[in-house]
Amino acid sequence: MRNSIGLLVIAFACASAQNGGISAERIREHTRFLSSDLLEGRGVGQRGGQIATEYLASQLAIAGAKPAGDNGTYFQKVPLVGLETQPDARFSAVAGDKSVDFQLLEDFVAVNMTQQPEATFQAPAIFVGHGITAPEYQWDDFKGVDVSGKILIFFTNEPPSSDDKFFDGRALTYYGRWPYKYEEALRHGARGAIIIHTTATASYGWDVIRNSWGKEAPYVKTGPGAKALSLQGWITREAGEKMLGLTGHSVDELLAASERSDFKPIDLGITLRAHLTTKMREIETRNVAAIFPGSDPKLKDEVVIYSAHWDHLGVGTPVNGDPIYNGAIDNASGCAVLLELAHVWGSTVQRPRRSALFLAFTAEESVMKGSEYYAAHPLFPANKTAIDLNFDALYPWGRAKDVVLTGAERTNVWPLAQQIARRLNLTISSDAQPEAGHYFRSDHFALSRVGVPAFTIGHATEFAGKPDGFGEKAYQEYNSKHYHQPSDEFQSDWDFTALAQAAEYGLLLGRDIANQDRLPDWRPGDQFHR
Ligand SMILES: [Zn+2]
Repeated sequence: MRNSIGLLVIAFACASAQNGGISAERIREHTRFLSSDLLEGRGVGQRGGQIATEYLASQLAIAGAKPAGDNGTYFQKVPLVGLETQPDARFSAVAGDKSVDFQLLEDFVAVNMTQQPEATFQAPAIFVGHGITAPEYQWDDFKGVDVSGKILIFFTNEPPSSDDKFFDGRALTYYGRWPYKYEEALRHGARGAIIIHTTATASYGWDVIRNSWGKEAPYVKTGPGAKALSLQGWITREAGEKMLGLTGHSVDELLAASERSDFKPIDLGITLRAHLTTKMREIETRNVAAIFPGSDPKLKDEVVIYSAHWDHLGVGTPVNGDPIYNGAIDNASGCAVLLELAHVWGSTVQRPRRSALFLAFTAEESVMKGSEYYAAHPLFPANKTAIDLNFDALYPWGRAKDVVLTGAERTNVWPLAQQIARRLNLTISSDAQPEAGHYFRSDHFALSRVGVPAFTIGHATEFAGKPDGFGEKAYQEYNSKHYHQPSDEFQSDWDFTALAQAAEYGLLLGRDIANQDRLPDWRPGDQFHR
């Protein structure tokens, strides 16, 4: 009897060791709870969001993780402020005795990033091409010209390229993303920054900008006197044409000029006048943070991060009578994987050498504010952070044949990432649309920007036993019908095998990185190299 029980125990241990002890069923149950109507769509600043963070903290504690947040708690407070530009906003361009007035939303959108309720000012306008300073590509749109105190006018995106060594070829680099433009404007001491929208350079129409900028949006609260742009915004192509009409230039002419490497800033000889009134609202929210200390006395000061955002859109405009945006796939699924990884990490007798930090970020749906705050206020310094492995929206549609890893190929973790994929019989798929810049649109990116190798272990695109093209079809269906809709809801027939596979992949990769002698890094010459 005793012997057979012993054998049973061994057999069970072997069976669970095969997939690292990971349970698709536990992942299912966490997903089910976190996306239930009771959690009201996990809105930031809403009750459901509070319940979600309590649940995550409790589950991490049950797994054996220690508090890693503020004052011995499992929470890191994230102070946000909601900013909404009011309809009385005025913006105009003046040249001598001629002027053009622009209408909010019809012609322009703008936010006063100084977080003041009122701002009235005027400043000269200067055109700076794509607004890029990229020494590794010998590209500098500023050419040493002093633009401080001015309002910069530019286009989004980057110089077109089919050469992999120049702005990553077809792929969009961070230099091409609009947030970079505003950051670079601020580094140059500009007063404001306006992007002239074209559908080609933005890759989406004006309605997308109008919808996202035309309502309250949360920002990380800044202290008094913090450097910020008084006006950060976009103007339509038509309004841009009217503005440039005062100067003898045109949109097409400036677009062409901005594509030449010998481009120099063009003083437009006009003054821009702005009056912005802003409705402000403080929003308190929090990241969840828990840690398993490492076993090596020296290396335990360094961490491997596992992350996933807990927030979704909360309670909002009803669709077919349903006001709860459950966010089952986006991103109860990633949180469930995070909790399962903590469970397995906590039940491992031989702890890895480095510590493992589990982070559930807030406010990802408001352009990644929780991870931005974390990167500015890290619990472990960036140079002691080995990697961030992030999980965001995984698809419960069966057994995966592949895993998507965007950005991993730019780090020296890549050979290990490939080796583990082979071990688990997974292929690695790369981003199907590198020009869309998906890499810059998930929480891991906040960590990359401070030099930490970071990427998302993404959803599968191919599933075993399913017809060819099933993954793509199911993805299109999810994306067009359920993404960011109240119908992103838990389905009882979902098969969570792919999520267990993604968790196992992350477990093996994170564990090996936690045990290796040296910290990983970006490849030499990469924009994010430490
Ligand atoms: Zn989302």
